[in-house]
Amino acid sequence: MTGLLFVLTFFTASAREVVVTLPEGVTPAALRGPHIGFSEGGTGRTRHLQVDDRGLATLNALGIPWAPVPPPPPDVPDGYHGPEAMEAALDALVAHHPERVRRVDVGWSVEGRPIVGVRISDTDTPAATWRVLGAHHGDELVSGEVALDIARTLSAPGGPADGWLDRVAIVVVPHVNPDGVAAVTRHNAENVDLNRNYGFEWSHREYQPGSGPFSEPETRAIRALNLRGPAVLALSLHSGAANFGWVWNYTYTRSPDEARHRALGEAYLDTCSTPGFWITNGADWYPTNGDTTDWSYGRFGTFDYTLELSTDKAPAADTLDSHLDHHRAAITAFFVDTPLHTGQVIDATTGLPVRARVARTTDGQPFETGDDGRFARVQTTGEDTYIVSAPGYTDAELDRPDGTLVALSPTQTRPAVTVSPAVVRREDRLLTVQVQPAPESASVQPPGHPLVPLTPTDTGFVVDGEGLPPGAWPVHVDGQPTRTLLLVDSADTTPLTSAHLDHTTLTLTHPANDAGRTALIYQDGQLADVQPILHTGHTLTVDLSRVAPDARIDVAIHAAGGPVWVADVFDGAWTASEAPPGTDGLDTGQQSMPGEFTACGCTSAPRPPAPFAWLVLAGWIWRRRP
Ligand SMILES: [Zn+2]
Repeated sequence: MTGLLFVLTFFTASAREVVVTLPEGVTPAALRGPHIGFSEGGTGRTRHLQVDDRGLATLNALGIPWAPVPPPPPDVPDGYHGPEAMEAALDALVAHHPERVRRVDVGWSVEGRPIVGVRISDTDTPAATWRVLGAHHGDELVSGEVALDIARTLSAPGGPADGWLDRVAIVVVPHVNPDGVAAVTRHNAENVDLNRNYGFEWSHREYQPGSGPFSEPETRAIRALNLRGPAVLALSLHSGAANFGWVWNYTYTRSPDEARHRALGEAYLDTCSTPGFWITNGADWYPTNGDTTDWSYGRFGTFDYTLELSTDKAPAADTLDSHLDHHRAAITAFFVDTPLHTGQVIDATTGLPVRARVARTTDGQPFETGDDGRFARVQTTGEDTYIVSAPGYTDAELDRPDGTLVALSPTQTRPAVTVSPAVVRREDRLLTVQVQPAPESASVQPPGHPLVPLTPTDTGFVVDGEGLPPGAWPVHVDGQPTRTLLLVDSADTTPLTSAHLDHTTLTLTHPANDAGRTALIYQDGQLADVQPILHTGHTLTVDLSRVAPDARIDVAIHAAGGPVWVADVFDGAWTASEAPPGTDGLDTGQQSMPGEFTACGCTSAPRPPAPFAWLVLAGWIWRRRP
């Protein structure tokens, strides 16, 4: 007894993973909760659990014997890449193939480590995006190595992706959780399980799911990455088991694409050479809420799978090559052997891209276009006819699209409204805006989300911003879309360092981390069809010679967790007036003190202490009359 108590005391002070044999009649769904979480490991009735003290007490009370799982190594073992070595390896890949591989700074971790990826493509306007994410769980070290191996394989000239790279972009992020990798821990530095923190069917009943959906900078960074261009095919790499799992994870109910998911799993199983590899519906193995793939599929229609690479989370380094070999051909085939339907949705009158919803006429999960109107979908052997719809437009039908341009006709003139403030800085969870002229009802459409109704109150319209991304939210009134955008800022932004206009070249500098951001130009509230942006290092250069004079230009710099905006600091009449002092002819959200935007009346919160955790600003820029 004393021995057992000693083990218990010793154990609860250190590790948090145990292995149990589930008694007959006890299901994973019944056992899991805030104090017991299921994780990779075990098959049949043998399972690995994440537990806290109360979870252990529950197991003891239920008479379920448990044994501690050996803890992970204290440091990243030789032969594996820690976060810094991984960043260097990705930079080396960029240097080796500068024509097709770009660094992507996805965001920053809790402790300020950069979350770094690469984008592999031969085109700036890909018809589809593939995505590979590794190390949501920092102790699953082999997942980062396989992600790096795939990036190397698919970027190789003459390699298996060569026939795709003029149409497809591949984004690979080996370490989603660099703090966890550095410490060799499952959770991030705030002890949150990032693979329970995504905002689709998120639940506080999970084990360490975070304080709310997307409460963690790492998951917000992945959300921002996906909002740039939703992936059509994706893998979320893990280890601790050897299987291929598909949605749903939060429910035993089958998804509308169950047969297609199973078929892709069976194809993977045929090609993968890992001993004992198997395939499963996610919830059938164990249910989870807030998982990456449920969010990808549920929110965007991405065919995203959880790939468990090896029963060892971090197998001995001298066996690493064999693990890479087991999966290289199967992952490659998963991407390059899956035929796609592709297209782009535009406004028939303006030619500008439209963010639209696309659904098969027969079955299947609906999916969304990106901000650029582009979409891609896995082909099936069925009819594959699609209905394309967007608020304020007449539906269009589409048969087996192959790079097809879909022009949607507006149903009517859109109501003109204004919202104030035009930019909401999100320090509080509840956002309040005024809408004029006052409508009966109003709603907003955050990126990657369906319409969210605004609640009328005495002080204005209110929306709960929990789990919703920052960025441009189209405003709808009385069931009609308007051309008005509500710009939702994030509390942790950082200002431009400087802005300078030289003839038609606008140069912006900012203190955010180096290189790899994506910047998008919005013209009169719509994504511009021409994106005249060059960016290197800390400097962003915009070529305004291709932009209509007097157009209202917004620049959104996407980095570190989401698109972030800073309001026009003067009213719209300013385009015809003299430039205010110190703005160098431009309205760029000029600040009087670092971190403050006094002119627009929106004062930011004090800077968070970790400088790399900042979000990048963007500015509304009004081009002066020549
Ligand atoms: Zn995992």
